[in-house]
Amino acid sequence: MSSYPAFSRRPDSTEGLVDLRSDTVTRPSQAMLEAMIRSPVGDDVWGDDPTINELEAATAARAGKAAGVFFPSGTQSNLAALMAHCTRGEEYIVGQRAHTYRYEGGGAAVLASIQPQPVENAPDGTLPLDRVKADIKPDDSHFAVTRLLALENTIDGKILPPAYVDQAAALARGAGLSMHLDGARAWNAAVGGGVSLEAVCAPYDSVSLCFSKGMGAPVGSVLAASEALAAKARRVRKMLGGGMRQAGIMAGGCLYALEHNIERLAEDHDNAARLGRGLAQIAELRLEAVNTNLVFVHMAPEHCKPLEAFAKSRGVIVALGPRARLVLHMDVSAAGVDSTVEAFKAYFAGL
Ligand SMILES: *Cc1c(COP(=O)(O)O)cnc(C)c1O
Repeated sequence: MSSYPAFSRRPDSTEGLVDLRSDTVTRPSQAMLEAMIRSPVGDDVWGDDPTINELEAATAARAGKAAGVFFPSGTQSNLAALMAHCTRGEEYIVGQRAHTYRYEGGGAAVLASIQPQPVENAPDGTLPLDRVKADIKPDDSHFAVTRLLALENTIDGKILPPAYVDQAAALARGAGLSMHLDGARAWNAAVGGGVSLEAVCAPYDSVSLCFSKGMGAPVGSVLAASEALAAKARRVRKMLGGGMRQAGIMAGGCLYALEHNIERLAEDHDNAARLGRGLAQIAELRLEAVNTNLVFVHMAPEHCKPLEAFAKSRGVIVALGPRARLVLHMDVSAAGVDSTVEAFKAYFAGL
């Protein structure tokens, strides 16, 4: 097999712009696309897709778990995990700001009759353990049965302190709860914390890992867990409509990301720090401490829409609110960061 012609597609409305709205906006590189095209495929519902099988095994191995299950999205992977851990009338303890509570359409309650028990996140993203403990219900027919503690790492870009996670796991185990990690950005936690993915995942029974964020693949998540939990999640996946057929084309992009896009996350973290330093020079803005690939910036509400429009006219796409989130990823270079800082400075200078 020789070379493939350059993949051509119609430019979309954000082509060539610095897009800081999310790390989901990355497009597959030429090399990733070629890896996808070359991926052998089969019917995955029959277990026949070699690329998906390879991705599931490789991801599970990196996470230190026995098995992996490929999902079309992180939302579905998290929901399948919640459903593998809990059944109707049971509950999971989760952060108020957690994706699995706040940003997944209430799926656990709507589709699975699983009750969330939210706990206010501390500023560092952790769930205070005295609050968690107080919300673990005794065996009493008034209460839902508490089954699971669900954490998120990174959360708002922050890496959960490993010592905290160990204490949370000890509390959960002592009370007979299982542990799930929404690890959509667990690779950022590993690279940012200077530890292996396995170390990040070790305290949990199940971990949902996204390939469509900083890893740069167009689509795909893997749930890594024990054989027994993975088998349950695979059954739930079919019920949720996530059993795909020759989806090895997608898994091929994820496999490419596993091999090429992990260490480079450090560049995104460096660029986030660079953006934070640049924006901190603007008096009208207040920056939060920058962690991994996310930058949070506060501004007076009246600036949000005009600054958004001004930045767009300078080739920078941002989604602004009074607490705005700017996200670094592989399609934003240090030069893109500098043009962003310049656009923001120019806006405030022109007021
Ligand atoms: C993006 C994300 C998910 C999953 O989102 P999908 O768009 O469904 O893949 C889950 N948790 C967190 C923290 C996320 O950022």
